[in-house]
This record gives sequence, C-alpha cells and structure tokens, in this order.
Amino acid sequence: MKDIYLDGASNTPIDKDVLRAMKPFLSPKFVGNSNSPHSFGIKADQAIYEARKTIADCLKVEVNDVFFTSGATESNNWAIKSVVFEDFLDSGNKKHIICSSTEHDSVLNCCKQVEKLGVEVTYVNPPKDTGKITLDEILPFIREDTGLICVMAVNNETGVVNDIENITRKAAELGIKTLVDCTQLMSYGGEYMELGKKFHYANFFSFSSHKIYGPLGVGCLITQGVKPTPLIIGGAQEQGVRGGTSNTAGIVGLGVAIKKMHKKDYSKFYESLRKYLQRELSDKIPGVYFNYWSGHANIISLNCSNVVKLDNLARELADYGIAVSAGSACDAEHDETQGDFHPSHVLKALGMTEKEIRNTIRISFTKYTTEKDIDRFIKILKEIIDNEN
Ligand code: PMP
Repeated sequence: MKDIYLDGASNTPIDKDVLRAMKPFLSPKFVGNSNSPHSFGIKADQAIYEARKTIADCLKVEVNDVFFTSGATESNNWAIKSVVFEDFLDSGNKKHIICSSTEHDSVLNCCKQVEKLGVEVTYVNPPKDTGKITLDEILPFIREDTGLICVMAVNNETGVVNDIENITRKAAELGIKTLVDCTQLMSYGGEYMELGKKFHYANFFSFSSHKIYGPLGVGCLITQGVKPTPLIIGGAQEQGVRGGTSNTAGIVGLGVAIKKMHKKDYSKFYESLRKYLQRELSDKIPGVYFNYWSGHANIISLNCSNVVKLDNLARELADYGIAVSAGSACDAEHDETQGDFHPSHVLKALGMTEKEIRNTIRISFTKYTTEKDIDRFIKILKEIIDNEN
C-alpha cells in the first residue's frame, strides 16, 4: 500500500515545471559561475537576475531587496544578526528584542545566541485560547531600547495567523524594525505572497523554496527600507553582502516555483480539505479535535489525547505508512531509525501538557493531497486507536 504524505509544512514535492526549468542548469553541458565574465558566466548571471526579478514582481518588492540564501533558517539568522550588528553593537542605544515564543527554532535559537552578546530578549506567549500574537501581546513589552520585533506570519505547527499588519505598522511608527518569517504563509499562493503589499511596514521577510514546490537548500531574505549586514563574508555575490558562488539551478527553480504559486490561490482548496477532514473525523473518531480552527487551512494541529495515550503518535502512524509530524520537523533531533520525540516548544508555549503533546499530530496538506489520502489516514488512525483499547 502506498505511503500517504500529510507533511507539506515540512517539505513539498518539487513541481514538474520547476524541475524542467532547473534541468539545463544541472546538465553536464552547463558550466557557469555567475560571477565569471565569460559567456558561460553571463548566462548564469542572467538566469539569476531573471529569477530575482520574477520574485520581486510577484512579491511586490524591489528587485535589489531580494537576497538569495540557503533557506529561511539562514534568512532569519541574517535578519536578526543584521539588526544586532548594525543597530545594537555599533550604536549602542538599542539592545532589546521582542520575539514570539512560538517562532521557529531558527529565530528562537538565534535570539538565544545574541543574548550572549548582551542583547536582551523578551519572549512573548500568545493567549492559549487563540494561539495568536496580536499588537496587544507585544505592546506591554516595548521599551525605549527595543530595536527588533520578530513575529512569524503563519505558525508552522498550528497554522494560526498572527496580526502582522498592526504589529509592523506600530513598530514602524516607533522606529522599531520587524522580522516576519513568511515561510508558511507562502503555501497559500496567489495574493497571499504579495508581501510588500500586505506588509508594507515590515523590514525583513524570510522563506524557503522547498515549502512551495521548489528545490531544497534555497530561500530568500527580503528587505524593505534596510540593507542586511554582510554575515557570510567572501566574494561580491548578492550585492557584496553574502559571499559564495551562487546556487544557479536552485535560484532558477525558486523563481519558477514562486511564479507558478503566485498564479493560483490555494486557500479554498485547503479549506475544503480541512472541512472534509473535520467531517470525517467527527463521524468516524469522535473525541479527536483541532487545537485551533482559525488560520491557514493546510496546517492542522490535531489533538487525539482523548482517544489514545501513546508515547509518540506521529511515530506510530509512520509505522503504518502515514507521514505526519509531531510538531515542527526541525524540533526533532533526527535519529534516522528512531525519530526521537522532542516535545514541541510551540505546543508547550500554548499550555498543553506533555501527554497532550505526545498525542497531538500536525497534518499539513500539499496541492496534491486528496480526500482519498484523508480517508486512508483516518482508517489507520482508527486502527491504531482500536488496537490500543
Ligand atoms: N521558519 C518556519 C516557519 C519554518 O516552518 C521553517 C521550516 N520548518 C523554517 C523557518 C526553516 O526553514 P529551512 O529549514 O528551510 O531553513
């Protein structure tokens, strides 16, 4: 029986048009370091420029504000360290960051690292009932010396959408920079991707290609009204602020992935799958519920702790060929044979007990998910529950 993939928030399969566009740049006939002055290099350089321009047009940002990275982890690190290097260490009058406690580890762990440099960080919990960070959560913690606020657009474990518009507007008014991790927001496609238009006041956006049917190992840092500090120092690539030979094929793939996603809004498709999942679950396994209903419909935190008491439900499902996640894939210090359980910091911050967390799974759809996939998932989940009881 074929395995069922319900883990799109950690990785989406590559789109065939993306693969087709990348192929010439991965062929033995292609050579071309985009920094070389000869015709081979110029071809690579042009391809990278085209991708950058496509991304800027789709996202409604300036072409010179698009910086290619290895993914959202690097982009988040880059944004935070840019502010720390430029505004905190150099001028010395700012030294405080406000960070939502439900951010991805690449934001949280970077904040923890800069604390060692004397930076002070306030980690803000969202209210447990909504899971959503709004301006009300942020405002009480703003200080004279606050220089950066980090809040993600869509949470990767719950799908909850934070109030970025109001937070970034207020921050801009107060002269505080903002980093908005848009990695999961991008999966809705269409106008949801128009970051420059949606979040006009934000300073840094980050995302990865492999959540939107592009290749692994490439992503972007987008800036508005600021320039990132050189962090990876070497050659003159990326306007001299990120050295290292460019990943031409990956960048071309990301450009095509964004262009294709921008053409279609997937929100209704995901909404109908989520409704189907909820209907079928309440019919076949009453007692299982969604931790949060509002938010992006392709990411569902499913609480099964009323009907099953296992040590690691996601692992159990994996044994039956159902790919879901316990939390963020990045939380698991992955032992390839075991996939050790590390209770999700997001679910902890939302006040869930360890038992609830162990029996909560994240289901996340891709554009290829079908109702049949959901039927099979529910059948297996029911089998696991029946075997246990
Ligand atoms: N931010 C969010 C919200 C994510 O979901 C992820 C990936 N799980 C990342 C950052 C990190 O992305 P990458 O592993 O591609 O660097």
